[in-house]
Amino acid sequence: MSRRREEFQPLKNDYVRIYDCGPTVYDYAHIGNLWRYLASDFLRRILEYNGYRVKQVMNITDVGHLTEDDLLAADTGEDKMEVAARREKKTPLQVAAYYTKAYFRDRRALNILDPHVVPKATEHIGEMIKIIQGLEKRGYAYHLPDRICYDVKKFKNYGRLSGTNLGQLRVGARLEPIKGKKNPYDFSLWILDPHHLMKWNSPWGVGYPGWHIECSAMSMKYLGPQLDIHSGGEDNIFPHHENEIAQSEAYTGKRFVHYWFHVRHNLVDGQKMSKSKGNFYRLADLEKRGYEPLAYRYLALTNHYRKPLNFTFSALAAAQKALQKMRLLVWQWRQETEPAQKLSRTAHRWQQKFLAAINNDVGTPQGLSIAWQVISSNLPVAEKLALVLDFDRVFGLKLGEWRLQVPPEIKKLAQEREKWRREGEYQKADQLRIELAKKGWEVQDRPRGPLLLPRLPTAG
Ligand SMILES: [Zn+2]
Repeated sequence: MSRRREEFQPLKNDYVRIYDCGPTVYDYAHIGNLWRYLASDFLRRILEYNGYRVKQVMNITDVGHLTEDDLLAADTGEDKMEVAARREKKTPLQVAAYYTKAYFRDRRALNILDPHVVPKATEHIGEMIKIIQGLEKRGYAYHLPDRICYDVKKFKNYGRLSGTNLGQLRVGARLEPIKGKKNPYDFSLWILDPHHLMKWNSPWGVGYPGWHIECSAMSMKYLGPQLDIHSGGEDNIFPHHENEIAQSEAYTGKRFVHYWFHVRHNLVDGQKMSKSKGNFYRLADLEKRGYEPLAYRYLALTNHYRKPLNFTFSALAAAQKALQKMRLLVWQWRQETEPAQKLSRTAHRWQQKFLAAINNDVGTPQGLSIAWQVISSNLPVAEKLALVLDFDRVFGLKLGEWRLQVPPEIKKLAQEREKWRREGEYQKADQLRIELAKKGWEVQDRPRGPLLLPRLPTAG
């Protein structure tokens, strides 16, 4: 809001309330949507790494609403939930349940932590109605024949977040085309429409809520009138978040959000992702090409949230390699030693350096680079292991869970070699060592027995 870097101060002690604008569940998420939730996950993990207790709430938008794209196209934009329901011959709630499940499958594959509460808009219509009634009572709402509108002129801070000037029409502003509204920026709180597929009774008649009221209602219900952090994509800034502020602050009389976290969008080969350009990807598309979801997570870590994430397959391949290398090293170290319980002064300094990097406006790229510096440092292995596993609480790459899978035929060759070696047939044993090397595997003789390692990828 202030457009400058500020020291983060929670409203209450060490407790942080985060509200994330969640997905509209009428279709699968694409990698750009997922990038935005990855960035939120990095933020949450960094706060937790710092010792804060975080409560994160993310809504599911399952009430159909007119979208900005629809509004550009026509006066009577079609409702995306309804379009999807017709397309798939399901009820809107079935559509929502299906895509919510798909969305959470993607999130979990990317190791994005589940929010503590995931409220659905359709289950909070009563709360929305109550706020609209409150706004009416306080003079912020007015009636038109087919809807209740928010009167932006009544709210003195309208436009502060996005830099919108009520006296001037914003270039490219996508506003609701409502007949009879007092100000171009006024927006719907409740739309009267007995023919809409999803509809509810209200004091004003049968209809459905406007776009923005659900986030005011659900954030207030689960986090109280004031949030520490509200996150969303940069496209949410205007009008969605501007309108959330207007509704919430007019209703409670309190400052709604202390810090806004807006994630820049995603590009593919430097271009906007779109279905018509054929550069539109879901996580499943990356998996089909042999990439792991966590490789995409690694790629996201290399990008700062205030820069667009430029997705390319060569960057993804490099991320996959680097991830593979990092976890193989960790696995190898774990075969040799336990992580150090106490850190030396040098190791502690690395940890402080890491903390400073990630605490500087969610500096995950710098944090990642410090992890690589630790890996190539001359710290004892037990300390490197302790540090990298500690850093992974923020990275979320599951480095400590990964196990090396050795193919059965490689295992068999190694066993045979071990047998020759024990029998003193060193020449035969060496033959098998060479054969294993040709297949990309190295045998190291350790006190606990032979250790098989794949050749390390060169990225890093
Ligand atoms: Zn929202």
